[in-house]
Amino acid sequence: MTNKDPIIVGAAEANQRFSRLLAESEAGREVVITRRGQPVARLSAMAEQASPAGADDREPGIGRAAGADLPDYAKRVQLIETCRRMNAIGLNQGTSGNASVRIAGGVLITPSGLDYDVTTPADIVRLNPEGKPQGGRRAPSSEWLFHVRILEAKPRAGAVLHTHSLNATTLACLGRGIPPFHYMIAVGGGRDIRCAPYATFGTEKLAQAAIEALDGRLACLLANHGMIVIGRDLKDAFNRAVEIETLAAQYLKALAVGTPNLLTVGEMDVVLEKFKNYSAWADPKR
Ligand code: 13P
Ligand code: ZN
Repeated sequence: MTNKDPIIVGAAEANQRFSRLLAESEAGREVVITRRGQPVARLSAMAEQASPAGADDREPGIGRAAGADLPDYAKRVQLIETCRRMNAIGLNQGTSGNASVRIAGGVLITPSGLDYDVTTPADIVRLNPEGKPQGGRRAPSSEWLFHVRILEAKPRAGAVLHTHSLNATTLACLGRGIPPFHYMIAVGGGRDIRCAPYATFGTEKLAQAAIEALDGRLACLLANHGMIVIGRDLKDAFNRAVEIETLAAQYLKALAVGTPNLLTVGEMDVVLEKFKNYSAWADPKR
């Protein structure tokens, strides 16, 4: 057996060693979780955008503690992987930020205040479409309301990601959105990236402010707080968050030296039109 061999592990054992296995998969090792000899999930599902056979298997009894018998297992894993990855690349830190993904009949969301390194699939909270938790052992993210509202307002979006990334948050603390200083602003779905006015975290007021800032957009900043992005799935949302954070860093650098030249409405409209057929960022479900 070489280090390149996949790790094939039964569900019950996977539940006990979940964080370790995720670390192995992040280090490039393939990890296959099986139940009765059949693969039910493959870690690094986010990278592959795979929906493993049997991932929605509801058969009870095995590994209840960490969730291998829970429905939407692959999406639970993807949520954890996404959050771990956003911390690993410096897009977020600590237990700040949160993520949600749409599932049939509801939403899966990260738990509130739990270190992503110790979060297991059973810690992911299932909400009904109105945001009411459906069992589970953890409280949902304190931002469950804006996640649910955004998924409701954007019926074609599959995932919402919220981070406290350094550069986007710096701009947000100045109450500044990002104007079209660079054509890639179009990844935010429009001619600029707005900054929603400040409201206390977890409130109706913040959810409303976010919805307004996201009108016709796929990303916004939240004053004195962070950023929100949406995507067709978690990977799309993650890629968008990376891009918005990069734009925020570029904009701050440009501001430090002078006054950035802004693209005109006409120029941005040309880019937005091109993006409709530009596979990496093709219309991401507003
Ligand atoms: P949660 O840990 O409750 O998701 O809160 C993090 C956060 O970013 C609140 O805005
Ligand atoms: Zn936050």
